[in-house]
Amino acid sequence: MAHVETKAAVIRAPLLCTLKEVTMRKANRLRPYLVLFLTAWFCLSTASSEARTKVKPGFNFFSAQQDIEMGREAAQEAEKQLNLLNDPSAVNYVNQLGKKLAAKSMNPNYPWTFKVVNDSAINAFALPGGFIYVNRGALEAADNEAQISGVIAHEIGHVVARHGTNQMSKALLPQLGLAALGGLTAGKGGWTATLAQLGIPLGLNMYFLKNSRAAEAQADLLGTQEMTDAGYDPSQLAHFFEKLEQGGSGGKVSGAASWFSDHPSPENRVASIDKEISTLSVAKNPVVDTPDFDHLRSHLKSLPPAPKPKPAPAAGSKDTPADTASGGASPAVAVPSGKYASYSPQENLYVVEYPADWEVMSADGSGATFVPKGGIQQINQQNDIVYGIQVSFSQGEVVAGQKDPLGGMTSQLIASILQGNSYLQENRAAQQKINVGGRQVLLSRLEGKSPLRNEIEVVWVATQLYGEGQLFTVLCIAPQIRFKDFEPAFKHTIESVRFRN
Ligand code: ZN
Repeated sequence: MAHVETKAAVIRAPLLCTLKEVTMRKANRLRPYLVLFLTAWFCLSTASSEARTKVKPGFNFFSAQQDIEMGREAAQEAEKQLNLLNDPSAVNYVNQLGKKLAAKSMNPNYPWTFKVVNDSAINAFALPGGFIYVNRGALEAADNEAQISGVIAHEIGHVVARHGTNQMSKALLPQLGLAALGGLTAGKGGWTATLAQLGIPLGLNMYFLKNSRAAEAQADLLGTQEMTDAGYDPSQLAHFFEKLEQGGSGGKVSGAASWFSDHPSPENRVASIDKEISTLSVAKNPVVDTPDFDHLRSHLKSLPPAPKPKPAPAAGSKDTPADTASGGASPAVAVPSGKYASYSPQENLYVVEYPADWEVMSADGSGATFVPKGGIQQINQQNDIVYGIQVSFSQGEVVAGQKDPLGGMTSQLIASILQGNSYLQENRAAQQKINVGGRQVLLSRLEGKSPLRNEIEVVWVATQLYGEGQLFTVLCIAPQIRFKDFEPAFKHTIESVRFRN
């Protein structure tokens, strides 16, 4: 199905709201304790209870723990391409400085790791979960320890504000829909394999490397706070960026273009940093330079020069294994083996069996997507589920006195699916009622020629009532030409659904 996103967003949003309300109710119960705790904290730390900017991480479908998992894998991938500087004294210096700054960040408990890239371009980047790389060029361009602290603290800011996975969430939302994205978890091959299926190379990808101006402004503020709290002179952060922006002056900043291609300057950068500094308790004699930094600088000079900067890897240039079709025939996807695995969501609302040789591509409290190898094709930058099963809840409109709520809500659901996938049509004559474990299930059939693949696609929509005004839906998708091969697995999945109460 081409426009999975429309369908998913329309269908699943209501349940997500319900879950969110539950969470909020829990949060309200906790509030009195929170107030007590905050009061105590303010009393203890009056000296630093300034009106510093509170940066809240943005919209994100991943957990902080998943940031760490993903970042760790991304770091492994990235290091296959990076030319690391394996010089113990330079690496120790950056690692110690980084850890000192990270200890003052919003999340000191990430597995903070700092490495030096033997690249003369002035740059640094951060992967989710605390894996930070500082180019040798940045160390060489800084005038003092406070300036390089500013660069590292800025990168730490990107990590704790979770900019990488925030950008990835925003980019994936229209492709996958709320529920699918909400529960995206790493499959067998880890995040590398899961994201590759979605057309995202995990290592040096644009979501992790290229930041928005808004993200830059946040990283500046957080960086300013961290370096101040670690005892450094925060004005050096602004000085360093000013120096880079002025380009060429002093001859030392020729490699600065690299920094700005990944970290675009926010508006009024220096003024914003200065404003933030005015809210902070800066140490009486803040650290600017140290003997360690001077030692590092002369040590770097004694090493062979860094190789010329490599051109940046083209983001998203790696094709997914499924990204081979240019439209037309379905890829050779294997017929399900006939063995089944069972899946139950975190909230444990139901259990369903799906083909054991398929992957659980995404799953959360409300839904899940199961796909065979090669079941997703990326065509024209869109992920198209060619073969797959999606289970989800949706909220229907309850009409008082409605004689056939299942039929009514199913019609609403089908209308929203057709709206998002205009090439599909409902085959009314094919609709049938079946009995599953004593409950009534309505099986509807949609079909139509997929404009992306130029072949006829069939979608089964199996719906049943759940609780008040909710519909539990199993969508089964396959090309018409092979639908018969997949029917037994689809039937098995539909008939295996059991609710937990
Ligand atoms: Zn940045």
